[in-house]
Amino acid sequence: MKKETYIEQSNENFDAIVIGSGITGGWAAKELCEKGFKTLMIERGRVVTHRKDYITEGKPPWEYPNRTKVDRELAEEQYKIQKQCYAFNDGTKQFFGNDKDYPYSTSEGTEFSWIRANQLGGKSMLWHRQSYRMSEFDFLANSRDGHGNDWPIRYKDLAPWYEYVERFVGISGSKENLPQLPDSVFQPAFEMTAPEKYFAEKMKQEVPDKPVIISRCAHLTEPQQVQVDLGRMRCMARNECQKGCSFGAYFSTQSATLPAAALTGNLHIAPNSVVESLIYDEATNRVKGVRVIDNDTLKEREYFGKIVFMCASTLGTTQIMLNSRSKRFPNGIANSSGVLGQYLMDHNYNALVTANIDGYEDEYYVGRRPASLYVPNFHYEPSKYHKAFKRGYAFAGSASRSDWQYMANADGFGVSFKNMLHNPGSWGMGLQAQGEMLPNRDNQVSLHATKKDKWGIPQLHIHCQWSDNENAMMNSALEVGSDMMKKAGFTNIKQQLLGQPPGLAIHEVGTARMGRDPKNSIVNGYNQSHDVPNLFVTDGSSFCSSGVGNPSLTFMAITARAVDYAAKEVKAGRLS
Ligand SMILES: Cc1cc2nc3c(=O)[nH]c(=O)nc-3n(C[C@H](O)[C@H](O)[C@H](O)COP(=O)(O)OP(=O)(O)OC[C@H]3O[C@@H](n4cnc5c(N)ncnc54)[C@H](O)[C@@H]3O)c2cc1C
Ligand code: SF4
Repeated sequence: MKKETYIEQSNENFDAIVIGSGITGGWAAKELCEKGFKTLMIERGRVVTHRKDYITEGKPPWEYPNRTKVDRELAEEQYKIQKQCYAFNDGTKQFFGNDKDYPYSTSEGTEFSWIRANQLGGKSMLWHRQSYRMSEFDFLANSRDGHGNDWPIRYKDLAPWYEYVERFVGISGSKENLPQLPDSVFQPAFEMTAPEKYFAEKMKQEVPDKPVIISRCAHLTEPQQVQVDLGRMRCMARNECQKGCSFGAYFSTQSATLPAAALTGNLHIAPNSVVESLIYDEATNRVKGVRVIDNDTLKEREYFGKIVFMCASTLGTTQIMLNSRSKRFPNGIANSSGVLGQYLMDHNYNALVTANIDGYEDEYYVGRRPASLYVPNFHYEPSKYHKAFKRGYAFAGSASRSDWQYMANADGFGVSFKNMLHNPGSWGMGLQAQGEMLPNRDNQVSLHATKKDKWGIPQLHIHCQWSDNENAMMNSALEVGSDMMKKAGFTNIKQQLLGQPPGLAIHEVGTARMGRDPKNSIVNGYNQSHDVPNLFVTDGSSFCSSGVGNPSLTFMAITARAVDYAAKEVKAGRLS
């Protein structure tokens, strides 16, 4: 990135402003820049430069003082929430938000783990890259079973945009022709291990409605020209991704959308700029800019633009919108419906089944595959719902051999003991459910009446709980997962309810939902505010339901589609 791309002060009236630089903001900026819009991306956090700032990349565990564990006192004091995330360790902590800087409250008796990555690139640095299209069944679910509002879009509206973003991103996976999980444009899939191949074959015979496939992830296994041109390379299967990958082999803002946007010459970035609120002009009924507070100096400044894309992540976006109050919108901009903040959702990952696998001692695998097994949702329409709950879940899992650590408590010494350490342990398998959360008005966020953060911005107050529906779903998943393992002949099957609060799946969606009716939704089917036409909300906050799959691929597709629509509206003169 050229030095002059970064700006601090500017009086320019940009063609477009994008708030946030994560997966969503990166896509908005790339598309806007490529369409010729002089674009300002505003990011609250520091600059993270591709390659240069991957400070722990390649660092082996024994070079960390606590072998990648974060010092307990530090974690307790500064990362009380972030440390709950499975990816948080001494090699990745620099990409997680410091909880002391980002306070929020939850209502009594409830918990919500808000995982944040407030820097250039956002959570695109840290994500696990599992990438699934939503299906027609996902878009129909709300209207069919009456929970939440009807999505104003259908699968056919997004299908060409999925294809468009996938060709750029690079998704590895296998073509399966499943009605509930549309295929993507794939690069070659990662290989299953020997017991996984057996498990997939066995399930085909025993439970044909539960196909076991390789997971789909945003890794280059056969880089295409569009990726090579950006300096991206083939994945080496090291699974070290969350420290940053200099090969650019997984999709992130840094590896993909930002360099593409920068190539146009239309991109400017204002880092360290915490957006406090949007500046609304009542006379024209347009957003004309944003008010920011400098991350370090706490000084205020303003930026101006003709259209604004909200991409600050589901809760970040809603916090800014709630805090953008005016005479016309006393409860937050574009909130004439009063729905802003409502219908918060996440995924429920609480059911885990593990088992031992006998045999396969002569089988092993090379590298650390960044993919897993996947069993797509089999309760994908009302006729297939379980009688105890609505909607459904998928399973993710893998079969692997335990490493030398299985010998940690074993007796022995000397050469023969050391030789034993060279042998991998026995095979085991885990299956974890990934369940849909019903849209529920009671799960919502608001601004705290008195508490503010260090930038003087009202803190978010979150009320979010699992319902009986999600709990029943997880109980059922334990039984189904165990039954599959049993049918495969696996032994020592164990069930575990993990008890994780909402937020920890890090798939938060909803709170500024789409809809056809301006009376009960914030944006239309093109992610455009019903109330303020030059305002677009394209991150997860615009979702009407969570679906079952990991959501980020859909954030990309709806964002690219929204930019295409916005550009046409600008050209037609309807947004000025
Ligand atoms: C460990 C982990 C694993 C995950 N695995 C997967 C997966 O396998 N598949 C999947 O689909 N998803 C996964 N996710 C979720 C995925 O990362 C997010 O859904 C996605 O990155 C969200 O993108 P976003 O751009 O909307 O938000 P973010 O990436 O959070 O970006 C928002 C940006 O906006 C900035 N911002 C926020 N507020 C302000 C403000 N007031 N002013 C200025 N800037 C602001 C932030 O600093 C940030 O850079 C995972 C997440 C984590 C952390
Ligand atoms: S697994 Fe692939 S994407 Fe991840 S760090 Fe290794 S090479 Fe990079």
